Amino acid sequence: MNSNIQPILDRVLDGERLSAEDCTTLLESNDLVRIGLAADEIRQRKNPGDVVTYIIDRNINYTNVCNVVCTFCAFYRRPGKPDTYVHSIEEIEKRIDETIALGGTGVLMQGGLHPDLNIEWYEDLLRTLHAKYPTFQLHCFSPPEIHNISLISELDYATIMQRLKDAGLNSMPGGGGEILDDEVRKRVSTKCTTQEWLDVMRAAHKVGLRTTATMMFGIGDRVEHRVRHLQRVRDVQDETGGFTAFIPWTFQRENTALGRKITEEPTGIDYLKMLSVSRLFLDNIQHIQASWLTQGIKLGQTALRFGADDMGSIMIEENVVSAAGANNEASERDLRYQISEAGYRPQQRDILYNYVNRENTEDLDTRNSMPLKQLSVAFAD
Ligand code: SF4
Repeated sequence: MNSNIQPILDRVLDGERLSAEDCTTLLESNDLVRIGLAADEIRQRKNPGDVVTYIIDRNINYTNVCNVVCTFCAFYRRPGKPDTYVHSIEEIEKRIDETIALGGTGVLMQGGLHPDLNIEWYEDLLRTLHAKYPTFQLHCFSPPEIHNISLISELDYATIMQRLKDAGLNSMPGGGGEILDDEVRKRVSTKCTTQEWLDVMRAAHKVGLRTTATMMFGIGDRVEHRVRHLQRVRDVQDETGGFTAFIPWTFQRENTALGRKITEEPTGIDYLKMLSVSRLFLDNIQHIQASWLTQGIKLGQTALRFGADDMGSIMIEENVVSAAGANNEASERDLRYQISEAGYRPQQRDILYNYVNRENTEDLDTRNSMPLKQLSVAFAD
């Protein structure tokens, strides 16, 4: 639908907050370029200059055992199946050592909803890792996992978040958000509800942990669901200020039950529009991340002109979206090259968006990029 979006863009550029209705109008518009230009302008105001950040970390999926069903997931295995695993501490430490050797500053650790792992298991894991790697950042456990711990250990979210923080948790990823609207969530998943996801985030922020917020769209949601998702994230951020970044991406359908049913999937245009509208609507969130891992490196690069100021992770290991068909890879050299070629200055950051300055990273900024497969071969399990 085409509608006159300029008055809305003028208002947002004048510093006014967008309403849900404005958000709907923008998402229904085909005028991607004008929306993108406005998003780029707001990005410049929020994060001035030509720096685009990225992080070197690793996604460690400590278990694939999961006792709920999400029809969009190709990663989980039901308890008791032969190909299930729970990583030992030694296996996790080996992966952390490899990450540190590559200049990494943290891990993003998430897993399935294991029916037997109680709060003490998570505390032991964090305490052991924090004692061995005191400055290495542990960015772990999305809201569905916290909700699962609360069911197993019969504790409220605030107690869990405080205990995990005390054990060494540095921050929390915003995974499991998908679409924060139960009309959609309940059709595709039996994991935590919208309210529970938001309440875990509130609890995390209240004990002083920062988190990200995510959106995975294209799972049967309509524009109104996406708008409600953005509104709910913005409302929590007004209350707590705890979100560092917002990361939208599109459903990766391969090997999933939902993927076999869904007939329409978001286009690259839908992705860029969602990203830009997120930048315009979420006026209280500093960073918007491009998801090159799901969208491909070139669209990730394009996203930098549509409101994103961060390229995310080089993702030394990733098992969840790759199981669903997203097989994009990039080394640090590749990512820095793509950022430079888009006209920006690549800058490594940590999980909390502090700059990390290692020696000789500019040596990486040459056209002759490392072969794309090299890292995955080096770290194949
Ligand atoms: S998305 Fe997470 S909670 Fe859902 S089935 Fe997969 S591992 Fe389990």
